[in-house]
Amino acid sequence: VTSEREFIADHRPDLIADLDEWLRIPGISAIPDHHGDVARSAQWFTDAARAIGFPAVEVWADGPWLPAVFAEWPSAEPDAPTVLVYGHHDVQPVDPLQLWEHPPFEPTIDGDVLRARGAADDKGQLLFHLLGVRAHLAATGRSTPAVTLKLLIEGEEESGSPHFEELLRAHRDRLDCDIVVVTDTGMIAADVPSTVTGMRGMVTATLSMHGPDLDLHSGVFGGAVPNPATALARLIAALHDDAGRVQVPGFYDDVLELTDAERELFARVPHDDDAFLQVAQSRALHGEAGYSTLERIGARPTAEVNGLAGGYQGAGHKTIVPSDAYAKLSFRLVADQDPAKIMKAVDDFVAAHTPPGITASLEWDGAGVRPCLVPIDTPAYQALTDALSAAFDGAAVLPTREGGSGPEAALQQAVGAPLVFLGVGLPDDQIHAPNEKVSITMLQKGAEAAAYLWTGLARVGAAALASGRTPA
Ligand SMILES: [Zn+2]
Repeated sequence: VTSEREFIADHRPDLIADLDEWLRIPGISAIPDHHGDVARSAQWFTDAARAIGFPAVEVWADGPWLPAVFAEWPSAEPDAPTVLVYGHHDVQPVDPLQLWEHPPFEPTIDGDVLRARGAADDKGQLLFHLLGVRAHLAATGRSTPAVTLKLLIEGEEESGSPHFEELLRAHRDRLDCDIVVVTDTGMIAADVPSTVTGMRGMVTATLSMHGPDLDLHSGVFGGAVPNPATALARLIAALHDDAGRVQVPGFYDDVLELTDAERELFARVPHDDDAFLQVAQSRALHGEAGYSTLERIGARPTAEVNGLAGGYQGAGHKTIVPSDAYAKLSFRLVADQDPAKIMKAVDDFVAAHTPPGITASLEWDGAGVRPCLVPIDTPAYQALTDALSAAFDGAAVLPTREGGSGPEAALQQAVGAPLVFLGVGLPDDQIHAPNEKVSITMLQKGAEAAAYLWTGLARVGAAALASGRTPA
C-alpha cells in the first residue's frame, strides 16, 4: 500500500496531462463568443470525473446560467458525512494579450511552474481534487471515499455568478451536505500554509442629488439657493469621523468583533505595511483607528466613495449652481452584517443628510452579497487545518481573511452547512492577469490535504459537523 503523498508524486504526470488538456479550452464566461468553450470545458471535466470513478456526473445547463458540473460519489460507509466541494471552471478574459509571454491557452511548463489562463484560478485547483480522491482511495484501500463526495463546479464565477442563487434553488434537492469545502483561494506563501476564514460582503449604490431644475447663474442665484454638489460633499464628509469610523447609525450593530485569539492569529500572519503601500502605489495608510491593515481589510466593514461627479467639468470656468451631483458608493460588509439592514440604514442616513430644497435618490444594485465567516473553534475547521498541516509536514496553519466578496455566502446559506476553504494558490500566481501560473508542487499539496481531509471528516462524523462540536 502506498501513502497519499507517494501516490500523488507517482501520478504527477497525470495531473500535468490533465492540466494541459483542460487549460487549452478557453472557457471565458465574460465573452459571449466563448460560451461554446465554457460548455466544452464543462464537458471536459464531466468526462474526467467519470474517468476516475465518479459514478454520477451531470452537466447542469437547464437554466439561464452557463453550464455547471455536478458530480457525486456516495460513500459505502453507513452514516458517512457528505461533503460538497465548490469551485468554478470558467476563466477570466486574457487581454492585454501582448503582455503574455506565451499564448494563454497553450500551457507551458518551466520547472515546477505551469503557465496558462486558469492554471491557478480555478482549473488547477479542481484537478488537485481529482488526484486527491484517487490518492485517498489508493492509500486507504477503499473502493468508495470515506465521505460522500459532491462536486459543484460553476461556469460563470468570473462573471460575478449572476445566476448562481437561481442555480442553487433549481437544484437544491441534490445539494444536501454536512460541510462545504470551497476551493478557489490561496495561501500566504509556499512555506506558510493558511486558510481563508472570512470573506466580506458588499452593497453598492448610486446616490443622486438634485437641486434647482436647471444650472443657475452663480452671481444671480448663488448664495441664495441650495447647491446639490455642496450637499453631496457634506453628506460624504459625514460618512466617517476623524478616527475613520463609519457614522451611519446602526452600521456596526451586527459586526462580530475579533476575539483576542483571532487578533493574536492575525498578528502572526506575515505582513509588511511598506510592501503593501508599494503594491498600492499609495503614499499613506488610512483606515479605522485601532486596527491593523490586515484587520481593516479582512475583519472590518467600510464605506467607500467609488466615483463623484456634478456640475461643470470642462475647460475654463462656468460659474453656476449646478442642478445635479452624483456619487457611486460601496459598502464592504463583515459577519454578521445583513445587506438589507445596511441598505436601510444608509437610506435613513441619506434622508437625514439631505437639506431642504435638495432631492436625494439612492439606487441600490440588487440585493448585495452577504459576508461569510468560518468559525475557527469547530471540528470542521480543525479537520481542515489538520489535513493542511499534515500536507505541509506539520507546519502551523494560519487563518486569513479576504477583503473581497464571492458567491460562497450564498452557497452556505442555500445549503445551511458550515464552510471551510481549501485552496493552494500563491500571491504571485497572477490570477486575472497576464502570465497566470500555478506551482505543480502546490497542487500536489492540495491533493494531499484533500486526501487527508476526507479521512478526517469521516472521523469527525456528520453529527459533530452539524452541531459544530467535537465528539466527546
Ligand atoms: Zn476563482
